[in-house]
Amino acid sequence: SETHKLVVVGGGGVGKSALTIQFIQSYFVSDYDPTIEDSYTKICTVDGVPARLDSEGEGGREAARPHTSGLIRSFNEVGKLFTQILRVKDRDDFPIVLVGNKADLETQRQVPRSEASAYGASHHVAYFEASAKLRLNVDEAFEQLVRAVRKY
Ligand code: GDP
Ligand code: MG
Repeated sequence: SETHKLVVVGGGGVGKSALTIQFIQSYFVSDYDPTIEDSYTKICTVDGVPARLDSEGEGGREAARPHTSGLIRSFNEVGKLFTQILRVKDRDDFPIVLVGNKADLETQRQVPRSEASAYGASHHVAYFEASAKLRLNVDEAFEQLVRAVRKY
């Protein structure tokens, strides 16, 4: 079947490992070691077509930098990630999905949903509000990524 490599990027503590493990293994880890560089594989069926997803951890790189608050504080940070991805891939366009995790922590929300959604639309990427804790929109986000890869 088709195979795709995916990388989850974002600041330290935003829930990259929790999202990945919830997607692949269907449970919530509350204390995953931020320095572990793990890789995971899952075969999932998206729109009736099986796809093998290989997730590459980026934890090893995080170990070298100080841990941030676990919150993305500005779209500037997101914009920098987009720019880095396009530069590394040497492309003007690349399959990306934007995920706002920790949607269960509504009282600590920093960014209005409408603003994040508009930001995604302006960059031509789908935006999901997800919760690795509640398993909310986790499959949906990864499946949308597969669709974006197929369209690319
Ligand atoms: P990473 O550094 O981006 O890989 O972040 P982790 O996956 O290790 O998560 C950092 C912390 O946030 C951990 O304590 C997680 O349990 C917690 N966390 C991750 N996702 C969620 C979520 O959706 N909701 C809540 N409430 N906490 C989360
Ligand atoms: Mg991690």
